[in-house]
Amino acid sequence: MERLLTRPLVMSLGGFDSGGAPVTSVYLGVDRATDFRTTVLSRFRSLVAENLHKVFQERNAGEEASIRSDIEKISGFISNMRKVDVGGLAVFSCCQKNFFETIGVPDPFRPQMIVSRRPAIAPLVAALEDYKRIAVCIVDRRNAKLYEYFMGRMQEITAFSDDVPGRVKMAGWAGWQESKIHHSIEKQEMIHLKNAAEVLFEQFRLAGFDWLVLGVRAELREAFEGVLHTYVRERLKGHVDAQITTPQEDVRLRTMELAEKLKGEENRKMVQRLVETAAAGGPAVAGLHRTLEALNLSAVDTLVLRAGVSHKGVLCAGCGLLGIKRSDCAGCGNNMNQVDNVVDAAEDAAMAQGARIRHMSGESLLDKFEGIGAFTRFAVKNGGA
Ligand SMILES: [Zn+2]
Repeated sequence: MERLLTRPLVMSLGGFDSGGAPVTSVYLGVDRATDFRTTVLSRFRSLVAENLHKVFQERNAGEEASIRSDIEKISGFISNMRKVDVGGLAVFSCCQKNFFETIGVPDPFRPQMIVSRRPAIAPLVAALEDYKRIAVCIVDRRNAKLYEYFMGRMQEITAFSDDVPGRVKMAGWAGWQESKIHHSIEKQEMIHLKNAAEVLFEQFRLAGFDWLVLGVRAELREAFEGVLHTYVRERLKGHVDAQITTPQEDVRLRTMELAEKLKGEENRKMVQRLVETAAAGGPAVAGLHRTLEALNLSAVDTLVLRAGVSHKGVLCAGCGLLGIKRSDCAGCGNNMNQVDNVVDAAEDAAMAQGARIRHMSGESLLDKFEGIGAFTRFAVKNGGA
């Protein structure tokens, strides 16, 4: 069973040192809707076939045998997957050190096979930024429930009730309205809201979250938001229609819908800022040519791509310079080789220069710029890639 992506897990993978033994890292994209184990396995096999020659270069017999064992072990793992319920699969294996780890995420990874002395974790680090950890807090006058939502899954963290003295039963909505006018929030209820706010702050301190989503009736909202810790309140992103009794699966689906909407808005704003900054000659570039130029200058801070975007281009085998048209390399004078998807090479180059990578799904302004752009560390003048 593949594990969920978490920052501590990525950090511990990053800290693994094989002491020189080869570590095989494999990333796969999986189509949850149509793929079976056998399809995933054949994707893995063709990835291996494409990369074997490269990963065996300058390896001794012992290392080759270790990598072959890794490949067998990974094949075995895929053959035994109970079900294909991830979009992206990352596997790390170092048979010599008895090290094996698998991680599943909802969106596909770009297929890659990398062998080095440490697990290749850059795509995981990028994925950590793509997925938001969301605290979902449902509060009424007496009860509170806290969930954590991450990568499409949700778990209950805690639930509690405070002993609020029974209220006079009001008849229906009209009575409720009347009580709101006359009583506003009672002292005991205020204590309960403060308790709930305290639990949220504890969760923030101990586990952390990026966004907060509330399920609170309109008449309690102002009072509850008012008692939230500043760090917690500034993460408040929206409200879901949910009560204490709402089934967890319904809360999950509503949170997922909201998260996707928020993510879409965030992406739209980021792309808008990118395009405007680039147009104003500021520290950003839009379009394939300009982005490759910025990568060639090691100037990229954040590479922004439409998920799955692909363009033909050229790559210098000598110095790694990227370009669109075949020519001699401006960096080292070697011939530049044609590549089917220069965006793959662009992602590798971005990783190598320590840049962040953001994938956007869905239509955006970026589509007018070949689906690729970047924020740069300084304004990149128009040269020639
Ligand atoms: Zn070159």
